Amino acid sequence: MKTGQEYKNSLDGLAREVYLLGDRVPDPREHPILRPSLNALEMTYKMAEDSAAEELMHARSTLDGNDINLFCSIHTSTEDLIRKVKALRMLGQKTGTCFQRCVGWDALNALSSVTYETDQAKGTQYHKRFLDYLKYVQENDLVLNGSMTDVKGDRSKRPSEQADPDLFVHIVERQPDGIIVRGAKAHQTGAVFSHEIVVMPTLALRPEDKDFAISFAIPINTPGIIHIVGRQASDTRKLEGVEIDLGNARFGGHEALLIFDDVFVPWERIFLCGEYEFAGLLVERFAAYHRQSYGGCKVGVGDVLIGAVATAAEYGGVAQASHVKHKIAEMLHLNETLFACGLACSYMGAPTSSGTYLVDMLLANVCKQNVTRFPYEIARLAEDVAGGLMVTMPSEKDLLNPRLGPYITKYLQGIADVATEDRMRILRLIENMTSGTGAVAYRTESMHGAGSPEAQVIMIGRLSNLAQKKEFAKTIAGIGSQSKEASQ
Ligand code: SF4
Ligand code: FE
Repeated sequence: MKTGQEYKNSLDGLAREVYLLGDRVPDPREHPILRPSLNALEMTYKMAEDSAAEELMHARSTLDGNDINLFCSIHTSTEDLIRKVKALRMLGQKTGTCFQRCVGWDALNALSSVTYETDQAKGTQYHKRFLDYLKYVQENDLVLNGSMTDVKGDRSKRPSEQADPDLFVHIVERQPDGIIVRGAKAHQTGAVFSHEIVVMPTLALRPEDKDFAISFAIPINTPGIIHIVGRQASDTRKLEGVEIDLGNARFGGHEALLIFDDVFVPWERIFLCGEYEFAGLLVERFAAYHRQSYGGCKVGVGDVLIGAVATAAEYGGVAQASHVKHKIAEMLHLNETLFACGLACSYMGAPTSSGTYLVDMLLANVCKQNVTRFPYEIARLAEDVAGGLMVTMPSEKDLLNPRLGPYITKYLQGIADVATEDRMRILRLIENMTSGTGAVAYRTESMHGAGSPEAQVIMIGRLSNLAQKKEFAKTIAGIGSQSKEASQ
């Protein structure tokens, strides 16, 4: 297992083509906008070093029984699934943001069962390749960028119907030793600081789409891969050399638009290639694992936000007001409901034919559907209790200005025994999480990450046994068994 420092060092010499705000970034670890993202990812290693967190952060390899980092493991029981949710909550509490390593982990677990089932049905050799890759990932304790969402172009058209086929990642050439792929994947969480990219199709596919039915893994520095980092609200505050104004100065996340400009993939790294019938299964399973993930990570981030709101209320002298207590209790209720959903789909998990455990798909979708709503309500209540000062107060540089500082300290004072600076810090944290850079992870990602709300609605409709419910109702209502009309 790597230590946090070893992880950072392992990115030495990884020559990636990364762009941010129009410029090429030679070493993303040194860029002030990206560094908090590296710190958050590093926590997935640091916590594995912490003996107090060992039970959550260490796992046994299914390949050789070795002690490995949790994020490289395959789930072999419902206990493993439950532990995942608890570990993600803990990491959310430590970082207050997205720590970016779960997408690749969820991709590994989805591929673990889908490569097995594809081989069973088609006589292919993907599972063996996958296991070789898993061994490499576990031995080197790697960060994987799980790469699913294609840019999609005209949403009313299938991949093969697009005016430009590159709008979905696809095979452009088959060669004796591999394939050449082209396309782009959007919203790639943690891409810049990953070691590898694991690509999966983005939707269920038909025979005419078979060149889009591909899954593979390649090093992040493979020639032809370009990262264009997305910007976030208030991101350039990180260039101002300030700390208080950032709210969460140490941790953050990032997403990138990943371009695949005729990238070579060797056969030994390909896990699906043309078997369009299995694209939908891979998407569904990956999505289910990732919808479970949100029942952990978003809850941990919610814990930080609720703690910040309770602290701000205390600093402002309103902690005992009954409506404030009520609003905080409401936030707690919503947050714990998400946790309950994450745990429920884990407890109800079951083995697939490969032996890898899968979450209960219906409950995982219910979990994520709630995640598309509750963090928004929690954020609304946070803004309500925090008050407008959160977005109107002067800057850190004003506080440090010798002429202005004393006025700010005097007039923004809350309760007498708390420093004004501390009050400003906690309000800035709430600002960060609800409308600054942190809102990417806590709000919009809760809406669209792991699939937008409608995707869960469709799955919930499909996975719920409505016919059975109708039978329950008809039986209770006496329909069919005791018809009075017939006896007349
Ligand atoms: Fe992990 Fe949550 Fe970030 Fe997804 S949003 S990568 S589950 S921390
Ligand atoms: Fe996500």
